[in-house]
Amino acid sequence: MRLRDKHGRFITDLRVSITDRCNYKCVYCRTGNEGALYSDLPFSDYLRLVRIFVQLGIEKVRITGGEPLLRNGLVDFVRELNRLRTADGAELDLAVTTNGHLLADLAAPLKAAGLRRVTVSMDAVDPVRFARITRVGNGFENVLAGVRAAKRAGLEPVKVNCVLLRGFNEDQIVEFARFSREERVVVRFIEFMPLEEDRVWSPEVVVTMDEILRELNSFRPVRELPHGLSETARRYTFDDGLGEIGIIAPVSHPFCGHCSRIRLTSDGKIRTCLFSLFDHDLATRMYAGDTDAELAAYIHSVVDVKEARHHIGEPGFVKPSRSMVHIGG
Ligand code: SAM
Repeated sequence: MRLRDKHGRFITDLRVSITDRCNYKCVYCRTGNEGALYSDLPFSDYLRLVRIFVQLGIEKVRITGGEPLLRNGLVDFVRELNRLRTADGAELDLAVTTNGHLLADLAAPLKAAGLRRVTVSMDAVDPVRFARITRVGNGFENVLAGVRAAKRAGLEPVKVNCVLLRGFNEDQIVEFARFSREERVVVRFIEFMPLEEDRVWSPEVVVTMDEILRELNSFRPVRELPHGLSETARRYTFDDGLGEIGIIAPVSHPFCGHCSRIRLTSDGKIRTCLFSLFDHDLATRMYAGDTDAELAAYIHSVVDVKEARHHIGEPGFVKPSRSMVHIGG
């Protein structure tokens, strides 16, 4: 039976974190003092769990972290995932989210192993600003090489995700629009959410969708493209059709009603929402000897209690029990 929560949403999209280590220390994500906080599982165990999820109706699997490209054996893991078939017998839609630092060498092997798409996180197109945000020198050149290698390898469409923070990079909006047009990649701006290790978030820091659209329009007139209901991004292009910009606005325009996502953390816990206040411990059940059928029944029971929506910005909002880097974005 397919996964469906009590609000009637079908769950078709699984994010699997394979490590919570990261080689970047982005100022809005990490304190810079914490390393990994949670363990990793062997790939064979993720594979067993993903297989069960896929039997229950998952169609898209996104590998994330921490930084997933730090983990040796990723290419073989993708090859194994690529053998799985959805409940309808189709191939899985397999994607990776990465900071791109190690992508230049891995793009072609990942594509050959069956990866369909890659999303690269990049919060500035200016090398100095990039280093200030990531707290890593020379990262920009590596990431740009990674983006270009992904395009050459055919991991299309290459999406570049940028989190905007007032005072840090909101002046990069137009630069990213140029980048999308010149590099032929989809650039997606994401509103900053209260998911950081530190306490940086406030409503004033969020650069909202309306502001982003105003800034883009000052560069060139934008026009909206059609988007699917469960797609998180509103899609835009410019008057001449060159370039594509997505805006993901979970804060100012929440899309929880169409959420089809569920997450597995690096240590094998299920999270039903980025803003969940607790995890559901799947790995411990697996290691205690549960059968696949028992694990599937547990997954159903967890999906059933998926939160209706997040409460960002509301009085009494409680920060989730894990930050983004330790959940898997
Ligand atoms: N290391 C990989 C990467 O950089 O893409 C995968 C993990 S990273 C946590 C996933 C994404 O979450 C990145 O695009 C990052 O910018 C984004 N992110 C981190 N903290 C965020 C926050 N508080 N609000 C919105 N996005 C956030």
